[in-house]
Order: sequence, then C-alpha cells, then structure tokens
Amino acid sequence: MANTPYPESYYAASANPAPPRPVLQDDVETDVCVIGAGYTGLSSALFLLESGFRVTVLEAARVGFGASGRNGGQIVNSYSRDIDVIERSVGPRQAQMLGQMAFEGGRIIRERVSTYNIQCDLKDGGVFAALTAKQMGHLESQKRLWERFGHSQLELLDQHRIREVVACDQYVGGMLDMSGGHIHPLNLALGEAAAVESLGGTIYEQSPAVRIERGANPVVHTPQGKVRAKFIIVAGNAYLGNLVPELAAKSMPCGTQVIATQPLGDELANTLLPQDYCVEDCNYLLDYYRLTADKRLIFGGGVVYGARDPANIEAIIRPKMLKAFPQLKDVKIDYAWTGNFLLTLSRLPQVGRLGDNIYYSQGCSGHGVTYTHLAGKVLAEALRGQAERFDAFADLPHYPFPGGQLLRTPFAAMGAWYYGLRDKYGL
Ligand SMILES: Cc1cc2nc3c(=O)[nH]c(=O)nc-3n(C[C@H](O)[C@H](O)[C@H](O)COP(=O)(O)OP(=O)(O)OC[C@H]3O[C@@H](n4cnc5c(N)ncnc54)[C@H](O)[C@@H]3O)c2cc1C
Repeated sequence: MANTPYPESYYAASANPAPPRPVLQDDVETDVCVIGAGYTGLSSALFLLESGFRVTVLEAARVGFGASGRNGGQIVNSYSRDIDVIERSVGPRQAQMLGQMAFEGGRIIRERVSTYNIQCDLKDGGVFAALTAKQMGHLESQKRLWERFGHSQLELLDQHRIREVVACDQYVGGMLDMSGGHIHPLNLALGEAAAVESLGGTIYEQSPAVRIERGANPVVHTPQGKVRAKFIIVAGNAYLGNLVPELAAKSMPCGTQVIATQPLGDELANTLLPQDYCVEDCNYLLDYYRLTADKRLIFGGGVVYGARDPANIEAIIRPKMLKAFPQLKDVKIDYAWTGNFLLTLSRLPQVGRLGDNIYYSQGCSGHGVTYTHLAGKVLAEALRGQAERFDAFADLPHYPFPGGQLLRTPFAAMGAWYYGLRDKYGL
C-alpha cells in the first residue's frame, strides 16, 4: 500500500504532534462520507457532527496533506473575484447573499480555534497593499462596496500609514482588515481533525476513494474497504484527479510556491512587519507574506498552470522577496515547497450536487482559507435541508476552460502572462 507522507515544508517540520490515523480495511456504514481531509472536508465534518450526523472522512494521504497544510496561512476574507463583478454576473439578490457571507469564514475559523482550543498561532490583521495609484483607487472603491454589504471594519492606509505596518517602500497605500489575519495552516487542519474525532467522527488516512458507486445508497470504495453512506461530500479539490469526471471539466489544478526564511530574530522581524499583520499585494499574480511564530518570513507567489512542480522554487520566489525586502539579501531560505489550488474560469467556487446525495465544493481559485470554512457550513446546512445559501453558490455559472483538457493549460498561462504584463506596467 502507498504510504504518502507530508511533503517537506516549514509546516510539516513544525506541526503539532498528531497520531497517524488508521487505513480503512472494513466495510463501514455512516450518514455522511467526506472525501478529503483538507479544510473543506474537515469544516463540513465538524458542522455535520455538531448537527448530529455520523461522519466518516476518507483522506488519500494525511490530514492537511493538500493546500490546507501548505498554504500561505493568510486569512483573507471574501472570494477570488470582486463582489461588483459577481453582482454584474448574477444579479443583486444572489450577490447580496454572497456578499453577506463573504466575511463569515474568518469568524468560523476564530470560533473553531476558541471552541476546540486549537494551537495554530492565530494572529489578527491582514493588509492588501497597493503598488500603484490605480490599485489604491480600486481598494477605495472596494471598501465603499463592502460597506454596502454591511462590512464596515475595513480601514484605508495612506502611504504614511502603510509604512508603519510594513517596511517595504513599493506601496502607495493599502487597506487593513482586522477580521483577516494569519495562522499555521497545517496546525489548524490538525486541530480541526482532532475536533472531528472528539465529536465521534472517524478519519481514515492513506485511504483514497478510488470509485463511487452512485445511486440511492451510494458506496465509496477505497483499495481495501468501502463506506456505505446516505450522503457523500467530495472535498478533494486540486488533488481529486478524475474521481468525479463532471468536476474535472470546468476546473484546472495550478501550483503555487512558498519559501520560509531562517528565523530572523525579533528585532529584524519587527522592523519588517511591526504589527505582525499578513500582507498580500494587489497584483493579479500576487505576492503574499507574513511572519511565523518563530519569526521567519513566509513568502509566496507565482503560479504554475497545470500544477507541474517547478525544479527550483527558491530561484523563483527569492527574487520576489528581495524586491519587496532588499534588506533580507543575506538571509538563508530554510524551506521551499509547492502546493496545488484549483482554478475555475470565473475564479469563483464550484459548488453543487450530483444526483440526490453527492455534494461538492471546490475551486475557490487561490483565496480559500476562509471560503472553505464557510463552504463546510453551507454544505452542512444543505444536508439538513436548508439550501438557500448553498443555492447562492450552486447557481454561480461555470464554463469549461478554452482549449479543453489538452490546451487549457497553455491558454490559461497566456491569459496570466497578459495580466502579469498589466501588473508589471501598472496598467
Ligand atoms: C501554496 C499555497 C498557498 C496558498 N495560500 C493561501 C493563503 O495564504 N490564503 C488563502 O486564503 N488561500 C491560500 N491558498 C488556497 C487554500 O489553501 C485552499 O483554497 C484550501 O486549503 C483548499 O482546501 P480544500 O480542503 O478544498 O483542499 P485541500 O486542502 O487541497 O484538501 C484536499 C484533500 O483531499 C484529499 N483527496 C484528494 N482526492 C482524494 C480521494 N480520492 N480520496 C481521499 N482523499 C482525497 C487530498 O489528499 C487533500 O488532503 C493557498 C494554496 C496553496 C497551494
């Protein structure tokens, strides 16, 4: 049997102790079989257990093996598409519902951390940093827009104020969201998995779902066992492969890379990010960074369409870090890793139901730490028969990538190249 370990990363090296979970070797029965133990699967499992469902989670590798255990750790609220663009596409009623939910994921994470006492270095405060006057104008209009949806906690930062929160002279201003923040992402996933088990849920690791027998009483098969369930939740995101062919057609796995420096020491770390907020810039191909609890800088950026693993991650990301912080030129990079997220053409999540009993949520296209937590709540509501908020997501239109399975990667890379040029020249 394959035994897939965590990929090497700062997170795997600093993970809280967690027991390896058993491999499924039996024929088990449950109410809900969740496929995938990332945030989508774990959040769904927790909300369902809290509502009295019996839940079995199947994980192909380890808890948090996918994006949930490798990401930048930035709690970024909202979606990967601006709410005014969503409003133009779906109309005011649906946009109103989506807009109201846009900051809920950050609250869910904080509730989870506090209720289940999860040790994941949670810090409040996230900054969107504008590199050009045009980007600053966009942040100003986004702030006005969010106020229209009832979110009034955002604060604009002028050029003077942003220097007080980040020692990078590239920015003309920014926007602070104190309901954003950052976490050790793998430790959040491990804490949520322990919470699932504390409520009586079962998690099997190294137990990939290899086939779903659909019908009134669906069965999920793994190499050595099977789960009979009333409902299935598919939460494999960019690592799902072709298990559910309908889902693969309108999404594309993409890789993105992250590095972690050596510990910088309190003095240098505090000069870079004195309030310990996390930062992402406003480019289409954006850079994002934050400090860890032991004062390393975690810096991410870059997208590899089609999710091939790049040969030398440090060579791709370190120059971006030095552009923002030339003062780190002598600092050593201790860890470099890559992970996959799932892109959709609209950059909005793909949510829905196949037949009567197979639910899914995937493809939040980059910003997923908060959305996936919300998704778990919305999926659990739908299984309980309250589908209004689920429908607001499920009704979002989705389209196949131009070029089909064969040409979608080069086509998307061309699109990103175009947006990269616009970022570069501030267009
Ligand atoms: C490098 C990187 C940096 C990122 N940074 C940020 C950030 O700072 N902020 C932010 O908001 N978002 C970020 N994201 C996006 C965010 O991490 C994801 O959107 C989110 O974690 C997705 O969670 P998920 O549970 O849907 O998928 P995943 O976390 O990928 O989990 C899917 C799980 O399903 C399992 N699985 C797949 N197929 C099967 C199967 N057949 N049977 C059983 N199990 C299966 C996988 O092994 C995996 O564990 C980043 C993503 C990456 C890759």
